[in-house]
Amino acid sequence: MTPRYTLFFLLLLPLSIFSQNTVVEKVEPPFWWTGFKNTDLQLLVYGRNIASSSVTVDYPGFVLKKVHKVENPNYLFLDLTISSGARPGIATIQFKAKDKVVGKYLYELKARKKGSAQRKSFTSHDVIYLLMPDRFANGETSNDFSAGMAEQLNRSNLDGRHGGDIKGIMDHLDYFQDLGVTALWINPLLENNQEKYSYHGYSTTDYYLVDPRFGTNEDYLKLSDALHLRGIKLIKDMIFNHCGSGHWWMKDLPSAEWINQWPEFTRTNYRASTFTDPYASQADSNFFVRGWFDLTMPDLNQANPYLKNYLIQNSIWWIEYAGLDGIRQDTYPYPFKEMMAEWCKRLNDEYPEFNIVGECWLNYPASVAYWQKGSVNKDGYESSLPTVFDFPLYDALNKAFQEPESWNTGIVRLYEILAQDFSYPNPDNLVVFADNHDVGRFLDMQNSDIRKQKMAMAFILTTRGIPQIYYGTEILMSAGTDKGDASRRKDFPGGWAGDPQNAFTEVGRTKAQSDMYNYLKKLIHWRNSNEVVHTGKFRHFIPADGIYVYFRYNTKSTVMVVINNNEAEKNIETGRYNEFLKNFKSGNEIISGKKLDDLSKLTVPGKSVVIIELK
Ligand code: CA
Repeated sequence: MTPRYTLFFLLLLPLSIFSQNTVVEKVEPPFWWTGFKNTDLQLLVYGRNIASSSVTVDYPGFVLKKVHKVENPNYLFLDLTISSGARPGIATIQFKAKDKVVGKYLYELKARKKGSAQRKSFTSHDVIYLLMPDRFANGETSNDFSAGMAEQLNRSNLDGRHGGDIKGIMDHLDYFQDLGVTALWINPLLENNQEKYSYHGYSTTDYYLVDPRFGTNEDYLKLSDALHLRGIKLIKDMIFNHCGSGHWWMKDLPSAEWINQWPEFTRTNYRASTFTDPYASQADSNFFVRGWFDLTMPDLNQANPYLKNYLIQNSIWWIEYAGLDGIRQDTYPYPFKEMMAEWCKRLNDEYPEFNIVGECWLNYPASVAYWQKGSVNKDGYESSLPTVFDFPLYDALNKAFQEPESWNTGIVRLYEILAQDFSYPNPDNLVVFADNHDVGRFLDMQNSDIRKQKMAMAFILTTRGIPQIYYGTEILMSAGTDKGDASRRKDFPGGWAGDPQNAFTEVGRTKAQSDMYNYLKKLIHWRNSNEVVHTGKFRHFIPADGIYVYFRYNTKSTVMVVINNNEAEKNIETGRYNEFLKNFKSGNEIISGKKLDDLSKLTVPGKSVVIIELK
């Protein structure tokens, strides 16, 4: 044998062994659990020409029922059942071609944590803090430049990756606790291996992997455990409507109809009302559901039965793996709605108290209510989605303190939106907010008037529903003169080593920031310990002269909220509110701490809210 041939054989030998053992490139979900109500499991198996192999599984109680081939021979979908008697352990899934073993996958069935099915979720008892992980804090600089990632750190680019990560969130648990928030909604953390504009996380390229620039799956699990030790809940942001164009399966789709394809790039019309509009043209409805959210966001076809299972199992996997307390689902009306309803039902079957909030970005209560569980819809659709964002109230809140008072402008906007709560099966399951990562910061929308931001916070923390606060609100973060999405998603000052300011600490905050922070902190902590504001009944009086008064009450306590939307201080005769006040002699004003011994008259400063615990 000449040296040349020796080299050839040396190369050939390990290569053939290599290919035999790695014909299986991916199995998803990568592992599962025993003890679910639903005993079915469908595995996606990916590997070169995997469809030409035969599959066997040898494990007691873990039975292969059916093998599905699809258009692309590089995929198999395996239907398995896990009997109630199956014990946790490792099953061998074997792939054979022409009687030779061409691949093996050791499939782990884990034991579920005790009480997993009975987990509590976020409710109106909570205050949600929304943060964008790339922009919150960079706790670990070693992950800033991650091998294999198409986009690397560039903090000078407003639309680039800035390096924030899971460690950065972990480093500020004291901060969340000090502020008093009880749940974190973190913008998506899954891998977004896109060329650019990947920091926001809405272009998933791997549904089972935390982006290495944020950390690892294990880091996410650690964060969840650490939050739970402090009584803070974790809400995962998910996107079923689209994936990222850099997703691994985009290079080799299971079938052409895995995504909604068009002869040329076709954008959705973003008009979610086409679903409920009795006059909508079929063309408009079709563009809405099947159009792509963006050039880099291929539209997934959730009507495909394998993709449907894939997404449902993926969310169960994350709930179980990371101990999630809730899910926020992006662009909720955009996927096929029957699939979304099935998803909600499957989750509810496994976790009866689990809460999901859907982003149904519509401007009218009736349109939003259509999507909430229990809604009686004319077309018979039952969405099974427990919670929706209150976009109509957000819209009203942004106008209410800015406009002149009139019959239909100013503070009356809040009153009129709440007056439409008859539309909702469950108004307590509305997430109320003044802003989020997709809209202008509330402060910027109010000409930087801090009084109005305080009014908005006092309102969302005392009205019905589940309040959500966008990170940075507490320290008056602003887009400044910058425009666009990224300007609302700036780096939290102090999250990066060497930042000129550290607003995470009391000494690092300016006087105005401290004032806002302390206002919000006081309100949140007060709210946390006052059941009446979580679940109490709501009753309001028609706004008059720029004054809006409402009460939260239950059998034990009553809280009175007065919003003065005038520039000037107002002295209010309270006789009109005797329906409630007749039962009380005095009150405590919770922000100032003042005791009120005479409830017949109230003085409320201009552009402010007073909250009174009645005694
Ligand atoms: Ca980092």
